[in-house]
Amino acid sequence: MELASLAQSGVSRRSDVTEARERARQRRWRRLAVLLGVVAAWAVTRAVLATVYLADGRRAAARSVLALPRLSLPGLGPYAPALLLTLLLVAVIGGPMLLMGRSPHVLYRPEEMGIGLGDVVGADAVVEEAVKTLNLFLNHRVLREEMGGNPRRGVLFEGPPGTGKTYIAKALAAEAGVPFLFVSSSAFQSMYYGQTNRKIRSYFKALRSAARREGGAIGFIEEIDAIGSARTGMSGGGGREGVVGVVNELLIQLQSFDHPTGWQRARGVLVDSVNRWLPADRRIVKRAPEPANVLVIGATNRAGDLDPALLRPGRFDRTISVDLPSRSGRRQILDYYLARKAHEADLDDPDRRDALAATTFGYSPVMLERLLDEALVWALRRGGHELGWEDVQRAKMTAELGLAQPATLTERERRTVATHEAGHATVAWMVAPERKLEVLSIVKRRSSLGLLAHSEREERWTATQSEVENLIRIAFGGMVAEELFFGEASSGVAGDLKAATEAAARMVGSWGMGDTLVSVDAAPGPLHPVARVLGDDGTARQVEAILEAARDDVRRLLSAHPQLVAALRDALLERDELIGPEIGEVLAGVDPGPRSARVPPAGHEPDPAPVIDLREADPERQA
Ligand code: ADP
Repeated sequence: MELASLAQSGVSRRSDVTEARERARQRRWRRLAVLLGVVAAWAVTRAVLATVYLADGRRAAARSVLALPRLSLPGLGPYAPALLLTLLLVAVIGGPMLLMGRSPHVLYRPEEMGIGLGDVVGADAVVEEAVKTLNLFLNHRVLREEMGGNPRRGVLFEGPPGTGKTYIAKALAAEAGVPFLFVSSSAFQSMYYGQTNRKIRSYFKALRSAARREGGAIGFIEEIDAIGSARTGMSGGGGREGVVGVVNELLIQLQSFDHPTGWQRARGVLVDSVNRWLPADRRIVKRAPEPANVLVIGATNRAGDLDPALLRPGRFDRTISVDLPSRSGRRQILDYYLARKAHEADLDDPDRRDALAATTFGYSPVMLERLLDEALVWALRRGGHELGWEDVQRAKMTAELGLAQPATLTERERRTVATHEAGHATVAWMVAPERKLEVLSIVKRRSSLGLLAHSEREERWTATQSEVENLIRIAFGGMVAEELFFGEASSGVAGDLKAATEAAARMVGSWGMGDTLVSVDAAPGPLHPVARVLGDDGTARQVEAILEAARDDVRRLLSAHPQLVAALRDALLERDELIGPEIGEVLAGVDPGPRSARVPPAGHEPDPAPVIDLREADPERQA
């Protein structure tokens, strides 16, 4: 039955941790009982003695027996002030030095954490893997004594920030009912020689004693790469000791859980000295110290940078990837947090929640939580007490695009920006029905004067050649629209050209979508793949050809349908911002016919010639 608890999928109900904690509790009581017994024996002896004296009529003797012993420092009289001053100086100078080597951890007791594994949502695979490790931790004696195995000492959580590495570790500690010792790697670093290593030693000592006291302890080292990076040089994240010294200390400490405690060492010395006098067959047997049941969890975003020795068996020998949540994971996280935040009934609609989960691709759990918090702020701003769908959309726009900022544009500039963004949106709408148009705006946010935000309709991890080409075409939409309506483009196309060039360079150099199948990624070296493609005349020419072909497509497309650009431009000038379906509604009002016929074939010349016509149609140009 005990062995079965190691194989089960949920958290094991029986645990060596609970038993060890109970043993420690009983030991504590026994020690207290012995101490109180000694004091009681002393008091009883005194009382008996006093009674005997009293019976003899020796009152003074009885009184002196009953009086409490007084502490006195004989002969120190004149030296006492000097001694006090010396002690004070030692405390003032030595105190901070002693404190500097203290462990910088923060201790959470299991009942303080207020979460369990049930609160970790949308990360089922991670939780399942973590529970396996937890069960080994909880049943470490069974594993060691009955199965002859070695407990797992270290686990590495690898993943981007905000994905729940600390949260899951805390939930594990809460579930195991053991203390959680959180430390950030940067807290170990010190400018004084030797202090970094001292702090690491103190931290592991604190872990060992917490584990011995409570039957187990979970340590969590945040950003472990800051102190555990590969030992290739003497500089970097190790404070004055350098990387080598700090990593070595970390390696030593990770093996320290079997070390005897101070008491056990003292007892060992005593037993050894007695054994020296005893014949071989009568010697006192020394018990091997029981290892401290510690699990150390290291969190990092860059496991590849860690020193390989740290990843060897017996150290951080298991890596668990804590990734950004999938669409269904995001849905579960949204459900979890919406259940805890006041929200309007429209957000209980499963379709709405699905839509929100779909449009938050790339959001980490903490970003989703903050999104709903930000939506609450928007709700408060409009005088509501519950967050609604509109509040979430506003919060999302602020999170993704930045706060709207007032910009003083000339009327002509505003018109150029509107035309530019309308060009992007028209191309996206016509050539890439697989993309969802989210926001079209001429409100200044961060560094952009306007923007088109669009995303995949489905969660995708790869893109086909035609999809990448479509992205390049969308990027050219702004430039071509400016050319069509104003006869020339502005410097506002810089960002679009950069994005288009990068995509085209990737097509040629990395994705085999150009004239060569040779991947620039295969050649080692520090240069960025895009730089390699652009640095070579042959591949750079291919990039140029892809870009020109895309621009020509877009020219044909927009020249054939300038009324679509104009409609979006006018809507933007009037409303500043079009959200989601509003973009399609404006375009549907000037429907150009079936979508398949929208991209005219190469060689097709629009009739009548666009620039001249548009010049006449556009009041700005006439002016
Ligand atoms: P990391 O350590 O990976 O940077 P944290 O563990 O600090 O991330 O996570 C930040 C916050 O995000 C947590 O305090 C919690 O509120 C929320 N969170 C993270 N993961 C989850 C999850 N799986 N389910 C619910 N909330 C989560």
